Amino acid sequence: MASSGIRPKPCKNNCGANIYFDARSAIGKTPEGKWVPLLWDDEQDIGTDTPHQCPNSRYAQQQQQQTTQQQPVRPIGPAGGGDHEEILRRLDRIDKSIMEITQSLAKFAKYLEGNQRMADSDARYDQDKEDGFA
Ligand SMILES: [Zn+2]
Repeated sequence: MASSGIRPKPCKNNCGANIYFDARSAIGKTPEGKWVPLLWDDEQDIGTDTPHQCPNSRYAQQQQQQTTQQQPVRPIGPAGGGDHEEILRRLDRIDKSIMEITQSLAKFAKYLEGNQRMADSDARYDQDKEDGFA
């Protein structure tokens, strides 16, 4: 019963695999109606009913190129892969840093204000001198 009369043939991309086409397979054709090469199991001499993902096909090579190009863009490294808590912890740290910076700025602003007042009084002092009141 397992033998359906389908015989495999070598993949035309010379990858060394045997493939077959099966009209009755659910994945034997693409939605567009194109034949999907399915992988033949040489040892058991049966069809595997899985698409033959040919390493030599132009499509596979394009996919590989795209994957290589996309790799540097991947934002999350293999260790911290999408760790939600780690992100929250970092946000918390950033929050605290911003608070500290705001406090420092407020202190600096007061310091500047004090300097400005001193400068103002100096100017007034100079002005007084010039007017002959000193
Ligand atoms: Zn192949």
